[in-house]
Amino acid sequence: MKKIAILGGGITGLTSAYCLSKNGHEVTIFEKEKMLGGLASGFKGNNWNWYLERAYHHIFSSDSDILNFAKEIGFDKFYFRSPETSSLFNNGSAYPLDTPVDLLKFPLLSLVDKLRAGIIIVFLKLSPFLPIYKNMTSEEFLKKTMGIKVWNTLWQQLFRGKFGKYAGIILSVFIWARINKRTKKLGYVEGGLQVFINYVEKLLMDLRVNVLTNYEIKEIGKRGEGFLVNGEIYDKVISTLPTPVMSRLTANIFPTSYLSKFTKLKYLHAITLILETDRPIIDKTYWLNICTDKIPFMILAQHTNFVDKKNYGGKHLAYVGWYVDNDSKLLKISKEEILKLVKPSLDRISNSKFKILNPFLFKAPWAQPIFNRDFEKNKPDFITPDKNFFIANLDMTYPYDRGTNYAVKLGKEVAELI
Ligand SMILES: Cc1cc2nc3c(=O)[nH]c(=O)nc-3n(C[C@H](O)[C@H](O)[C@H](O)COP(=O)(O)OP(=O)(O)OC[C@H]3O[C@@H](n4cnc5c(N)ncnc54)[C@H](O)[C@@H]3O)c2cc1C
Repeated sequence: MKKIAILGGGITGLTSAYCLSKNGHEVTIFEKEKMLGGLASGFKGNNWNWYLERAYHHIFSSDSDILNFAKEIGFDKFYFRSPETSSLFNNGSAYPLDTPVDLLKFPLLSLVDKLRAGIIIVFLKLSPFLPIYKNMTSEEFLKKTMGIKVWNTLWQQLFRGKFGKYAGIILSVFIWARINKRTKKLGYVEGGLQVFINYVEKLLMDLRVNVLTNYEIKEIGKRGEGFLVNGEIYDKVISTLPTPVMSRLTANIFPTSYLSKFTKLKYLHAITLILETDRPIIDKTYWLNICTDKIPFMILAQHTNFVDKKNYGGKHLAYVGWYVDNDSKLLKISKEEILKLVKPSLDRISNSKFKILNPFLFKAPWAQPIFNRDFEKNKPDFITPDKNFFIANLDMTYPYDRGTNYAVKLGKEVAELI
């Protein structure tokens, strides 16, 4: 039996804590927030019966790691729907682009361009991971295969919204993984994802895991073969923290030659503005991609077109989302100023005279790693220069974009190494 400290109480940390305590280890989780769940955690507004995630969350039916884990632990509240998704273009109109028929009906591209785009989408859907995806950027790949017109119309703005100034350096592994794993059916949890997190927390309590919330790790020391965390010595440490945070905390433990490669990794921060309104901002559509630079945000997700509004006291909920760089003014300005910035665009997109009842603003630092040419060789691995210190964090989902499914997978894999 080993004494293990897990840094971070997101889904990776919780899954590894479950597996390790099941295997008879003595586990402590350190989480800086009041609640467990990390990027996937939720909150409740007034009169809501269900939790809502701070950042929009759904899973795909191909997310077998989290679905199998749920089954393993007896959690049966995941369910699937096929909500409408569409994309908003420069002409002010939104079009669904989910099925081959949607693509054929799409009016902003010629038939030849649409057929070419369709063939490449099918190819990416069926293709295994190929080395070629590591040698080209998404922009190069999409321009070459689908054509410049398709890139300009369908993709350019999506990449700009998701990756900002890094849009041009994102490897085509990203677009392969996105299309390969995506399913029309989207999954959610009865009660919100926090219900799943709370369920795992209860299992951890039963397994006598020591869960310390509201505890921000500020220091880690080396003591013999083990580590000093919170005044106690642990045989092993698993860090699920964002790499920049982990690097800062381990500056006295790891050689600079090891940590210096992490300084080459680039990230964006996620911001979500959640609007509780009296009427839906958009009808029917759950997910609206913004494919026009005339709108100052990346995504509008009308959550209550996916999940029944009765679970939120009959109010409508929508997310407005951004990924931003360190120096973005959105990180500095107030919720009210952000609202002022987006309201005219929301009014233009909406058919209803909706009224905002409650706005909520959330920021998630280091939430979007940038998969550029240097990413793979510099990203962290489970194994570190210290045989008793392990890493399992969202940088390690590469070539897949981070997700709760991969958090479960990483949590399980790191536990197997101990
Ligand atoms: C905008 C957005 C949308 C997303 N949408 C989806 C989606 O639709 N579907 C999906 O499956 N996934 C989605 N994800 C990704 C998913 O949320 C993450 O991949 C997953 O939750 C990561 O879990 P984790 O445990 O690896 O990391 P985290 O959740 O980041 O956990 C790390 C934990 O460490 C804690 N921590 C940090 N510093 C310290 C410290 N010094 N001391 C103690 N604790 C600390 C943090 O508070 C956090 O709880 C989305 C993410 C974002 C940002």
